[in-house]
Amino acid sequence: MNSNCSSESPARDPWAALCHPETGLASPKPNLSARVLLLAAHPDDETIGASTILTRLPDVTVVFLTDGAPRDPKFWSPDARGSRDDYARLRWQEAISALSLAGIPPERIVCLGAVDQDAIFAVPALVAWFSALLHQLRPDILLTHPYEGGHPDHDAAALIAHLAIRNLKCESESTTIPQLIEMTSYHVREGSCATGKFLPYEAQSLPELVIQLSTEGRARKDAMLARYSSQRHLLQNFDSDSERFRLAPRYDFRRPPHPGKLWYECLGWPTTGARWRELATEAVRQFQVELCV
Ligand SMILES: [Zn+2]
Repeated sequence: MNSNCSSESPARDPWAALCHPETGLASPKPNLSARVLLLAAHPDDETIGASTILTRLPDVTVVFLTDGAPRDPKFWSPDARGSRDDYARLRWQEAISALSLAGIPPERIVCLGAVDQDAIFAVPALVAWFSALLHQLRPDILLTHPYEGGHPDHDAAALIAHLAIRNLKCESESTTIPQLIEMTSYHVREGSCATGKFLPYEAQSLPELVIQLSTEGRARKDAMLARYSSQRHLLQNFDSDSERFRLAPRYDFRRPPHPGKLWYECLGWPTTGARWRELATEAVRQFQVELCV
């Protein structure tokens, strides 16, 4: 664990509680009561980035931004059969099965239902739905993806989380605002896909909580990932040795997360970074106008 993880007392600061050397996430016997809302872009992102949070904290709700089924069948798993809805159902069933291994029942799993790769086109509605959930559940921690140009839906999850917290701050007077914490996903680094690490924020390395998984923790994570059998061709790119978390920085979503091509631009996907940022800029403008006047 990075020793600069936090300076606040654990009682007032869920991030400090996660980082605590004797009772936090890295401890053999964690004593953590923080309520967590995990916003994942797709079924499997939550296990890739945060199996330790899923399995070691007692009150976790998982929200999937998309149904995991892109419009174009060329992006589907070789295991997909039938329609896009059939593929979305398969991905939902895999999520229910994987999360059951972490003790998370179906009633604590929600799908906001955006189409895979297209979340950025539905940001206003998704912010409204997600804000309602945030208002209802009042978590201590909101855990999601960083803004890093790996996948347009991952970046949309980061944008929606930031806008929903802004929404909550604008409408709340004395209520607790959740801490926004990030898990790792992937981004481009020197022409390749970097997994399991954060893109430095504005060339700075922010303090991170690094968890080395135990033998048992790795086995549980591997078992959860195995339940996502339709994604096995992609999941082999991720290892199960460690997980990293950090407090989310204040992004400017109108600017690219880094210079050069984003990872999804390297893959030639339909959504470009420029188009993503146009839509993000419009959403930021809309919510600044709507929420805090
Ligand atoms: Zn994903």
